[in-house]
Amino acid sequence: SASGNKQALISLSDKKDLTLLGNGLQKLGYTIVSTGGTASSLENAGVSVTKVEHLTCFPETLDGRVKTLHPNIHGGILARRDLKHHMEALNNHGIGTFDVVVVNLYPFYDKVTSTGGIAFDDGIENIDIGGPAMIRAAAKNHKDVLVVVDSLDYPAFLEFLEGGQDDQQFRRKLARKAFAHVASYDSAVSEWLCSLRYGENPHQKAAFYVDKSLSEVNAGGIATAVQHHGKEMSYNNYLDADAAWNCVSEFRNPTCVIVKHTNPCGVASRDDILEAYRLAVKADPVSAFGGIVAFNIEVDEVLAKEIREFRSPTDGETRMFYEIVVAPKYTEKGLEILRGKSKTLRILEAKKNEKGKLSLRQVGGGWLAQDSDDLTPEDIQFNVVSEKKPQDSELCDAKFAWLCVKHVKSNAIVIAKDNCMLGMGSGQPNRLESLRIAFRKAGDEVKGAALASDAFFPFAWKDAVEEACENGIGVIAEPGGSNRDGDAVDCCNKYGVSLLFTNVRHFKH
Ligand code: 5GP
Repeated sequence: SASGNKQALISLSDKKDLTLLGNGLQKLGYTIVSTGGTASSLENAGVSVTKVEHLTCFPETLDGRVKTLHPNIHGGILARRDLKHHMEALNNHGIGTFDVVVVNLYPFYDKVTSTGGIAFDDGIENIDIGGPAMIRAAAKNHKDVLVVVDSLDYPAFLEFLEGGQDDQQFRRKLARKAFAHVASYDSAVSEWLCSLRYGENPHQKAAFYVDKSLSEVNAGGIATAVQHHGKEMSYNNYLDADAAWNCVSEFRNPTCVIVKHTNPCGVASRDDILEAYRLAVKADPVSAFGGIVAFNIEVDEVLAKEIREFRSPTDGETRMFYEIVVAPKYTEKGLEILRGKSKTLRILEAKKNEKGKLSLRQVGGGWLAQDSDDLTPEDIQFNVVSEKKPQDSELCDAKFAWLCVKHVKSNAIVIAKDNCMLGMGSGQPNRLESLRIAFRKAGDEVKGAALASDAFFPFAWKDAVEEACENGIGVIAEPGGSNRDGDAVDCCNKYGVSLLFTNVRHFKH
């Protein structure tokens, strides 16, 4: 050091065994330099200490973000003792060398994993900056600076100093430990930055990883969506927003899709997007409550007002509540109005998904990969296999229902009419059950409507197709391919219903 004394720099969040360390160093004749909290603790233990401010001639500032980040500190750690010009530079600036650096870091990991968790901004404040800088500087210059990051090493370290023998092996061991300490600290921070509050349920930890293999310019989809407002996105929010965005992105005309638990429960296309929105809610107002609302066109002031004010058709009173609104664009005014709907409403601006992507899912012990299901009704033939030919409007309804059914979990049935989904049944292990649910939701508007089935009607065809016909369906679209296809055709002929085979199915498991 400048005075010829040996100097130790101590800055510790975890003050365990600090007295042992301070007394030990003092007994060996070290001048001890410390940051605020550490200095107070040492003084309380009767150890004399110089505050860093005394060396930096600068107060600890920015709420502790800048304490030791100063040439008078880092020069004293990093200077090469074997280089004349390094030592001269220190001398010219009145900087003393440090022989020992003892630092442990803000307890970032403990803070962010504490029960109940901590707010994002608190997490950020718990990222130590000056500490790692000192540790790395000392570890780099370990030939002349001993670096200690673990209180368990204090006894061996003090013994080493007492012995007075130099041992590069010991110094290197401490330096390796120091770099490992900082590396694991930084990976904890980087992991936390991609972590979610929790998974599908609060007892499951979770993280979100963005696929960097997609080209930056074209990268679309929920992962790259901009969040303009609202509470932090959760694991389930990402899943549901993804489902809603994928579905609505497939429609050409102005469309609103409402998703609940990854299934679309309301879908409507209209030239007037306000009407589309109202119809999508009306399809199943109970399910739509607390759902995700997706649009494939810009949300402007008028639409935003409608989203904010629209009252649940169930009681005509309660304003609809949503988790997320997702759209490709918002006007300035539209955004402002939506922000006013609630503090928590997540407002996402997303870009269209790229086609031809790989879809990945995990099973116990491995991964399943497949091409994404990019087929649209334009890519598919709707072959008429019944005596009755569908009218243009019926064919149009069938295609609309077909596009919806692709996004419903199997077994999937969708009933639609006039570019509006009337009812859907999803996730039943039995297709007939899905069909009955869809009819129940559709109510009594099904006369002449279209019914789409994500896969063919198997042995229960008689129940399923016959029930659909009896309920007044005008046209059925299904892949075909069952041994009993002939029976399905006969049944439709008996009721005068149009039957379309697509030769393509849209399982979604
Ligand atoms: P103290 O309790 O002594 O006030 O603070 C000790 C903690 O502050 C140590 O964990 C150390 O790593 C950290 N620290 C020291 N200097 C700086 C700095 O300049 N910036 C930041 N962010 N942390 C620092």
